[in-house]
Amino acid sequence: MTQIADQQDNLNADILIIGAGLAGLGAANDLKQAGYNVLVVDKGRGLGGRLAGRRIGEATFDHGAQFMTARDSRFQNSVAEWIAAGVAEEWYRSYPGQANGHPRYRGVPTMTAVAKYMATDINVLRQTRIEQIQQNGQHWSATLDNGNSVSARALLITSPVPQTIELLAAGNIDISPTNQARLERIEYESCLAVMAVLDGPTAIPAPGAIAFDEGPIAWISDNLQKGVSTIPAVTIHGSGDFSARHFSKESVEQNHMQMGQQLIDAAAAYLGAARVTEYQVHGWRYSKPTVVDRKACMLASEATDLPPLALAGDAFAGPRFEGAVLSGWAAAKCLIAELG
Ligand SMILES: Cc1cc2nc3c(=O)[nH]c(=O)nc-3n(C[C@H](O)[C@H](O)[C@H](O)COP(=O)(O)OP(=O)(O)OC[C@H]3O[C@@H](n4cnc5c(N)ncnc54)[C@H](O)[C@@H]3O)c2cc1C
Repeated sequence: MTQIADQQDNLNADILIIGAGLAGLGAANDLKQAGYNVLVVDKGRGLGGRLAGRRIGEATFDHGAQFMTARDSRFQNSVAEWIAAGVAEEWYRSYPGQANGHPRYRGVPTMTAVAKYMATDINVLRQTRIEQIQQNGQHWSATLDNGNSVSARALLITSPVPQTIELLAAGNIDISPTNQARLERIEYESCLAVMAVLDGPTAIPAPGAIAFDEGPIAWISDNLQKGVSTIPAVTIHGSGDFSARHFSKESVEQNHMQMGQQLIDAAAAYLGAARVTEYQVHGWRYSKPTVVDRKACMLASEATDLPPLALAGDAFAGPRFEGAVLSGWAAAKCLIAELG
C-alpha cells in the first residue's frame, strides 16, 4: 500500500521528489533502495502523472499514456516484474496496416496500475502542490500549498520543464547559463483527449487501437477491447496541430467540449453504428516533448553553490513511458553520487 506521509507542520527527508509520475517514482525506488529517506509530493489526486485514468459512470478510460514499449534491458526486466505482479501485460505488436512488430505493453487493469505498483513502498504525499522551493544554506526548503514545509538535503524535480523553469525562477534559484539554455530548448506538444461513452461496440478492428500520421486525430482506442472498460468507451487523442489550435490564444474562447465534438465527428468511421451517450475532454498542455535534452537527466546544481538538485522526466531520456523511468533512474544515480 502507498503510505501517506504523516501530516505535520514541517517534514524532513533526505531527498524530496516533486512528482509521483514515472520519473519521480522510478527515482524514489532507487533512492530508497540506496538507504535514503525519500518523500514524494504530487499535486494530483492519483499516482502516475500522465498515466491517467478516468471513470464516467460504468465506463473506464486510459486517457493519458496508452501503452509502453521496452528497449532498455533494465526496463525490460521491470516490465517482466510488472507482468509477474499482474499489473501489466502485452497488449499488441501491430495493428492492421502497421508493419512494426515490437510489443506494446499495457497496465492492468489500467495504465495507472503500474504507477501504483511502483509506489508500493514509497512515501507519497498526494493532492499537495509544491508552491515554492528555496535554498536554505546546504538544504532545500519547500513550501506546500497546505502551508506546511519540507526540508531536504537534495531535491529532484520531475514536473514538465516549463513548469520547472517557473518553479526555479519563483524561488530565485540560479542554475548555470548552460543548463538554463538546455532547459529553454525543450519543447512540448499539447493534446486534447476525448473520453466518450458509447451505446454499442466500435468499428475499430482488433487490437482496438489506431495511430494516425495526419488529420485532427492522433490516436483512437477502444477501452472495451483493450480490457480497460466493461462497457463500450473510446479514447480519442487530438493531433499536436489540432490540440495546439485549442491551446493557442486565438481559441481560448472555444471550449473543450466543442473541440471534443469535432474530434468525435472526425472519428465517425471508427465508431460505426455506435452513438456517443456522454463524453468528457481533458486538455494536456504538456503532453509529449517534441524537443528533448541530450542527457538522461540534469544535475542542475552543478557549477553552483546550490545543494544537490536534479531534474528528470521524459524531456530527458526520451518522450515516452520508458524514457521517463530511465530518466528517474539516471537522476537517482546522480544524486547518490552527489550525496555520497
Ligand atoms: C495524451 C498522452 C498520451 C501518451 N501516450 C503515450 C504512449 O502511448 N506511450 C508512451 O510511452 N508514452 C505516452 N505518453 C507520454 C508519457 O505519458 C510520458 O512520457 C510520461 O508519463 C512522463 O512521465 P514523467 O514522470 O516525466 O512526467 P509526469 O507524468 O508529467 O509527472 C510529473 C508529475 O509532477 C507533478 N507536479 C508537477 N508540478 C508539481 C508541483 N508544483 N507540486 C507537486 N506536484 C507537481 C504532476 O502532477 C505529475 O504527476 C503520453 C502522454 C500523454 C499526455
